Amino acid sequence: MGSRPPGMPLVAANWKMNPTNIDDALDLVRGVMSVARGQADKVEVALFPPFLWLTAVSEVLFESGVKLGAQDTFWEMSGAFTGEISPAMLKPLCQWVIVGHSERRLFVGETDEMVAKKTAAALSCELSVIMCVGELADHYDAGTSDQVVSAQVKAGLASCSADDSARLVIAYEPVWAIGSGKNADPEHAYKTMRLIRKIVGEMIGAGAARKVRILYGGSVKADNVQQYVELPLCDGVLVGGASLVADEFAHIVKVTAEVYGHR
Ligand code: PEP
Repeated sequence: MGSRPPGMPLVAANWKMNPTNIDDALDLVRGVMSVARGQADKVEVALFPPFLWLTAVSEVLFESGVKLGAQDTFWEMSGAFTGEISPAMLKPLCQWVIVGHSERRLFVGETDEMVAKKTAAALSCELSVIMCVGELADHYDAGTSDQVVSAQVKAGLASCSADDSARLVIAYEPVWAIGSGKNADPEHAYKTMRLIRKIVGEMIGAGAARKVRILYGGSVKADNVQQYVELPLCDGVLVGGASLVADEFAHIVKVTAEVYGHR
């Protein structure tokens, strides 16, 4: 399991609760597209705007090769679940969904059990899933990152099987690195990604685990992305803040394409 799987690298843009108006969202997607569509044979690019902008963004992305995803989903398909959006609703618009982002775990109280249910529901609708895992600063300082991340991976993938591997991505995002400008030491990122692949292998089989892509996320910028995408087990990056600046995000996509082009 030493080398990366055969799939393309993935560069995912988590816009979070931005931009706050549709005109800015459309400007951003057009800016990103002008570069990303030229790299579509080398890098898979997926944009994750807020739910409200998904329809308009999907129209701009139509047939561009740039993929669209939602930042969250619910685990039921329909019913009395006020405020929620189901995977069945997302499926006509999106190819991707993020589950278990640390901001949802922290601010909305999402548990590992909820993340597992969301992951299973999204996969059942044939959406591809980025499941986020990562330790808090206290865990990192106490040297317990491995235990925390292992537990999150095991719980989050509880219902997954080898059949899901090609549509499953795990983003290792140390929580202390998200939005903080303190990106993780590549050695720490590498060791944790290696651990994640080992656990996934134990759960769904080593062969299938090779198809599961593993990303790094946490203060990735144009000037530091190279050190992550060069890591042997890294299949791409999940980018928050830097994905809101079209030129910077475009640079991240280009660097990723160059590094993987040379592998
Ligand atoms: C994220 O939102 O997943 C993220 C990694 O954010 P940032 O790049 O801003 O740290």
